Amino acid sequence: MDHRDALPAEHRFGVIDIHMHPTLKTFMLGKNMMARHYPPGFFFPLTMRTDLDALLAGGVKAFFSTVYIVEKDFLTDVWPIRMVQRVLPRVRHVFSGDPFERAWECLDHQDECIRQINARRGPVLAVARSVEEMLEIIASGRIAVLLSVEGAHHLSGNLENLDKLHRRGVCHMIVPHLYPNEACWNVDAFPDDVNWLRRLGCFRQEIRLDSGLTDFGRALVERMFDLGIIVDVTHATPRCRKEVYDIQRGHAKRRPVIFSHVGLHALCAHPMNPTNDEIRTIADTGGVIGLIAMSYYLSKPIRKDGLNVILESIDHLIRCGGEDVVAFGSDFDGFTGPPPDFKSPRDYAVLRERLLKKYSEDQVEKFFSRNVLRVLREGWTPPVTASAPVAEVAQP
Ligand SMILES: [Zn+2]
Repeated sequence: MDHRDALPAEHRFGVIDIHMHPTLKTFMLGKNMMARHYPPGFFFPLTMRTDLDALLAGGVKAFFSTVYIVEKDFLTDVWPIRMVQRVLPRVRHVFSGDPFERAWECLDHQDECIRQINARRGPVLAVARSVEEMLEIIASGRIAVLLSVEGAHHLSGNLENLDKLHRRGVCHMIVPHLYPNEACWNVDAFPDDVNWLRRLGCFRQEIRLDSGLTDFGRALVERMFDLGIIVDVTHATPRCRKEVYDIQRGHAKRRPVIFSHVGLHALCAHPMNPTNDEIRTIADTGGVIGLIAMSYYLSKPIRKDGLNVILESIDHLIRCGGEDVVAFGSDFDGFTGPPPDFKSPRDYAVLRERLLKKYSEDQVEKFFSRNVLRVLREGWTPPVTASAPVAEVAQP
């Protein structure tokens, strides 16, 4: 094995989580990553899960920090949010203005959070703008932050904004999200927990599972493969996913395609979850499927023993797609309802023990980091060399 395709030996069972949302809580709700939080094992959006101590305790060595500027559709679809944003200036600010500008501002905010954390706690976090930089950060004992974006609405309908995000170091983008955007429609991602709000007239958006990519969406996916930004089909309709697989097969660079945060259709028949055939398709592209820490998507009926379901899901992934397709994308701090035994990055410590009892050390390394490392190498073309000064990053 090439040493460049593994974490440094002393961190070999460290985790690269491919979907976390700390900035959703820090940027929109003013939460503090440095404080220690005590999140419960169910939907509870008012606390944080990805605080620094939890990341360290769980042995998270790198994570995709996914920027998400909430779609304006929430204001028409969910009237309580319309009321909340009237009284909370931070929330109002996120909903106002151009989504691309807000996303850029969120990335600036994250840089500032990292600066403050490092000033107080010593060097613990750093943004990685290439795989080499990520491995250097991990080797020095710090946690690497990889930049990621959820939803093509952040481009404000302009493909040049994709290039700007790429130059800034963004390695990954989920094309759809919670409401239709310029690129495509989406599946219904709101769990049954919100059914009481549905009865009050909320979450009534139209869902078109038979819709695919728009012309803009096709151009966007092509451009992501060209540039080297990892294409993620989480939240996409089955037809949209098929169209992305077709584009991937026809594209000269044969980039991996991923699902960053899902359960599996065989264990939970939700239209967002990949079918057995799709697990094989993703594996064939060289991609990964990141298992989500959210009870609603992991099993139907919902089970409380989340880690058992995670282990069953891994077995199923291996059966359908092989051991190189397994990854973790917890969605911690993404307003999710996690299982009681997998409710924060801290619980990766228990998961690690369980995995090492059941699988070989080589397999555990693959699930936690090496499969993602491969996807980063094949799917991401970093914009600049690791030593290039930050001043070279273009401004919007
Ligand atoms: Zn998501």
